[in-house]
Amino acid sequence: MERETLTVERRRLVEAIADALYQRGPGMAFTGAGISTESGIPDYRGPNGLWSRENPTRFRDFLADPEVRRRYWDRRRERYPVLASARPNAGHIALARLQAAGYLDTIVTQNIDGLHQKAGSPPERVIELHGTAHAIRCLACELLWPAERFDPGPPGTIPACPVCGGLLKEATVAFGEPVPRRLLERALALAETTPVMLVVGTSLAVVPAAHVPRRAARSGAFVAIVNDEPTPLDREAHVVVRARAGAALTYLAELLVGAPAEPAGEERERSV
Ligand SMILES: [Zn+2]
Repeated sequence: MERETLTVERRRLVEAIADALYQRGPGMAFTGAGISTESGIPDYRGPNGLWSRENPTRFRDFLADPEVRRRYWDRRRERYPVLASARPNAGHIALARLQAAGYLDTIVTQNIDGLHQKAGSPPERVIELHGTAHAIRCLACELLWPAERFDPGPPGTIPACPVCGGLLKEATVAFGEPVPRRLLERALALAETTPVMLVVGTSLAVVPAAHVPRRAARSGAFVAIVNDEPTPLDREAHVVVRARAGAALTYLAELLVGAPAEPAGEERERSV
């Protein structure tokens, strides 16, 4: 894999993040769509996002209108294979290596693609604030099915819960649907005590998720941001690296953990 190179100035900024994690860590990471675009997954919620190119499904419309549910399931049948076949990239792999080496504790993510876990991050140390596309949930009885073992039926049909007949939806947080309180509170509690908050690939536009890094900043954490666009937290951050996630995080992991055993983590990906 061809590796994007960092300018000297950006390398210095990444070195400052490495120093903070080395001196004060373990820290935590907060990630968004920008870490997954290098895996070929368009920004789920952004204006050009795969799922939102047409009108995104609003939760209240989903509940109220069978036609909305039919379109939702047709889109999911067509688009889920893109997510299911996506591979973690250098950014996900670097964060997993930093976790394994003890420099990062929990990753809080807004992504629903499961790529942190595919890269080797322990599932119990990944908080998916917006849920996961890799499971199907019954809105009535709360039962969950792994997506790979769930057959949504032929196009044009709306699957129902085989246990209670309730409405089924992918286990993600739709527009207008609340973030599960338990997850948000756990993420905020971790943010309050973390010594280092590493924000990656998000412009921090979506609340309440964006409250998590903000809570860390207000609680005195060292805040580092790796993103290719400005964020509202830049002014409060100690380090802002205007770069894509893959190159910056790979260098960060190299500084703290050393070069990866296999180039671009191909073996690691295959073994998951
Ligand atoms: Zn049910």
